[in-house]
Amino acid sequence: MNRTLRGFRDILPPDSELFSAIEDAAREVFRLHGYREIRIPTLETKELFVKSTGDTTDIVEKEMYAFTDGGGREVAMRPEGTPGVARAYIEQNLSQGGRNAKLFYIGPMFRAERPQAGRYREFTQIGVECIGNPSPSADAESISLLVKVLEKAGAPGCTVELNTLGCSDCRRAYRDQLLGYLKLNTEALCEACRRRVDRNPMRALDCKVDGPWLADKAPHISLCPGCVEHFDRTQALLKAAGVDFKVNRTMVRGLDYYTRTVFEVKAGALGAQDAVAGGGRYDDLIKSMGGPAAPSVGWAMGLDRAALVIKAAGAAPEEKGPSAFFVASGKEAGLEAFRLMSDLRAVGIPADYSNFDLSMKSQMRSADRSGADYAVIIGEDELKSAACSLKPLKGQAGQESVPFAGLASRLAVKPA
Ligand code: ATP
Ligand code: MG
Repeated sequence: MNRTLRGFRDILPPDSELFSAIEDAAREVFRLHGYREIRIPTLETKELFVKSTGDTTDIVEKEMYAFTDGGGREVAMRPEGTPGVARAYIEQNLSQGGRNAKLFYIGPMFRAERPQAGRYREFTQIGVECIGNPSPSADAESISLLVKVLEKAGAPGCTVELNTLGCSDCRRAYRDQLLGYLKLNTEALCEACRRRVDRNPMRALDCKVDGPWLADKAPHISLCPGCVEHFDRTQALLKAAGVDFKVNRTMVRGLDYYTRTVFEVKAGALGAQDAVAGGGRYDDLIKSMGGPAAPSVGWAMGLDRAALVIKAAGAAPEEKGPSAFFVASGKEAGLEAFRLMSDLRAVGIPADYSNFDLSMKSQMRSADRSGADYAVIIGEDELKSAACSLKPLKGQAGQESVPFAGLASRLAVKPA
């Protein structure tokens, strides 16, 4: 028998319905904020991610599903959405007309990491990118949008952490300073950091092993006046929008392209995998990929983790059965039931059945299990009188006879 690969999984009802509900909430919030959907490929050139996400990042170095395809091309399953959106922005000339592009995506991402609770090899991200707006208002709107999506989806207990990494000028100066410090302390570094220290000293700050002590001991970045101003204004705007956040000056993010603002949303309910979403500003990425100057900001939320938070809080939407579950005996009754179900569905009343060829007893068992409000029973007597027996399945006593023609209006009245 074939089984799913490790770290890959089937998402079944009601989880799949919770996933959809979160997506619906996100789509509604995006619409209110002027974000429009982009659908990008799941497979891209490997080079896209190596160059944009960064060749010393964990994502590219260790986690990418990259392979040579039948035509000898080096390709990769996308591990994140931003590089593809940035590529599309350039390739499809989305900068034309000088308008900002406000785009969102929803789709699967692939990372070959060690599977555990909240960490899978295929998972879904909901992400947004606001491309071409250098103003702190874009940062604040992006973060506020993220908080609204989580609120609307019903994920409680989420906190926003905010930091700034400085612009490319601040970072260039800091890079040399940090490199000097790391060189003096190489023995204290883990093997991975030692290996990549020359290529990308900043990575050490995000290392699971060395990050924590470096945050304490290593020199901190000094920000230029422009970056200080940007960070201050972002915070003022967030306060104006009523968004709660806390500044965490030691936070760095696992991607190379961030400049200035970075942020993360954490949820206590998740334990070790506590990050529900992360994002930041990337002012130089699109230009470095051969596009126009397009300072941008965006984030990605882990849908699977958001679902875990909502479930842990017992906030998942209630499972609801159909209004009417049909039980019919005999060919004629089955025909009538089929017609009535179709009438009900046409006016928006959910109707279901199991199999009219089975015994009434077995059909009634299915009706009980279905979570339906009513069983609609059609046997010989009901056929003769052109009225079905309506049996409440949720506690109320009594059974009533309802003419076929009046069934839809009877069921349109919600049970008490
Ligand atoms: P982590 O620190 O948990 O590894 P990350 O920094 O690698 O997260 P990002 O690349 O910022 O994550 O992706 C944004 C969000 O996508 C994360 O906050 C998380 O909710 C989700 N995510 C990332 N990797 C996985 C995974 N392997 N399985 C499920 N969700 C994931
Ligand atoms: Mg990760």
